[in-house]
Amino acid sequence: MSVLIRGGRIVTAADDYVADVYAEGERISLIGESLDVQADKVIDAAGKYVLPGCVDPHTHLDMPFGGTVTIDDVESGQTSAAFGGTTCHVDFVIQGKGQSFAEALDTWHEKRNGKAVIDNGFHMAVTDLVEGGTLDELASLPDQGVTSYKLFMAYKGALMVDDETLFRTMEVAAETGALVMVHAENGDAIDVLVKQALAAGNTEPKYHALTRPPETEGEATNRAIQLARVAGSPLYVVHVSCREAVEPIQLAREKGWNVHGETCTQYFFVDDTFLERPDFEGAKWVYTPPPRPKENQDVLWNAVRTDVLSVISTDHCAFLWDGQKTMGRDDFSKIPNGGPGLENRLHMIHEFGVRHGRITLNRLVELLCTNPAKLFGLYPRKGTIAVGTDADIVVFDPERRHTISASTHHSKSDYNLFEGTEVTGSPEVVLLRGHPLVEDGELVAEPGIGQFVKRARFGEELRPATAATA
Ligand SMILES: [Zn+2]
Repeated sequence: MSVLIRGGRIVTAADDYVADVYAEGERISLIGESLDVQADKVIDAAGKYVLPGCVDPHTHLDMPFGGTVTIDDVESGQTSAAFGGTTCHVDFVIQGKGQSFAEALDTWHEKRNGKAVIDNGFHMAVTDLVEGGTLDELASLPDQGVTSYKLFMAYKGALMVDDETLFRTMEVAAETGALVMVHAENGDAIDVLVKQALAAGNTEPKYHALTRPPETEGEATNRAIQLARVAGSPLYVVHVSCREAVEPIQLAREKGWNVHGETCTQYFFVDDTFLERPDFEGAKWVYTPPPRPKENQDVLWNAVRTDVLSVISTDHCAFLWDGQKTMGRDDFSKIPNGGPGLENRLHMIHEFGVRHGRITLNRLVELLCTNPAKLFGLYPRKGTIAVGTDADIVVFDPERRHTISASTHHSKSDYNLFEGTEVTGSPEVVLLRGHPLVEDGELVAEPGIGQFVKRARFGEELRPATAATA
């Protein structure tokens, strides 16, 4: 199959120009003005943006958590992603206690079977390291295309690891060329604060934020940065939510240390007062780190503008409000932590980042496509528009109006974090490796089209598998 996209405004992290894009098979084979080629399918993109498919490096699909399982499986989660212009994501495999990484990986590969709508890779969340066992196995993961290790410094008694496990993983990463990712919060201090709050009868959703103050995020961020320096591993801090965590990352980057950070869409828009909404509605915004006081939103915009933070992800971890979040009606600590966001990242950042003049269109592409692809070993196959790359393309109509709502989104969640928000600008056609995925508001590909992507090691490039023989 061949596709010709005519006359669109092609925007990458570095460029912005009008041209035609021609994809033959799964890759882009020509870019130029008024291309004289025949194609099976021609898309008129005059007046539209032609963007690289977005890459979301932080999602949780079909994951057991908090006494339940996230409501979006691979099919519904990836469908939701596709409608939002995301054509590749990296999901977290969670190692169970006592489980080998091979077993954990098998389980997550199984979840994809016959259901994948977009491409994805896997990170490995390390929860249990045993000398002579999983510690050795950890080093073999990059050979399988799993080139990032995630550690939780919070969720005591569940996913949290101690500093020994964190540090040993960093040492392995320094050897294998994997990237270490941390959920940075001081889980021990938070555990004390949660117990004290509950003992005092403070059970409402707002105590989720009050028991995880910004200092606990700042402390853990700094601790991870310093330990990574000792181990000599690169570090990526996920879901940075507040000034206290931005500052140590800023310092590290000024010093030239190998430290990178992401924030997520919701931290720009949702503040801690959302948790106080009556009738338990506040539970919709119970995710971790929690929504912060509003003044942090400007700190985050500034951080993504100045490259203190390099990526905006979604941390999509969707639950139903009615039936899952409500498990914590009488105890905020029993509310499953997480929210849906995979579908609306491009909508929200285009509207409030680009249209409101906070970041440029090039920077949007860098934050949502190019940087996540580069940091996670997917570039240049993913994350840009160039000859030889996968034809993962979003034809984006900058004039199309869209009202974000749970009544029209594709996640199975019964609410949307940004319910009722009106945006101007929405994906019109989405291609995955040259195959039409979304068109005219419909999913036009069958589940099963998505592929598992073996990622390159940190700092290395991922070339198309067939490039050498083409
Ligand atoms: Zn997460």
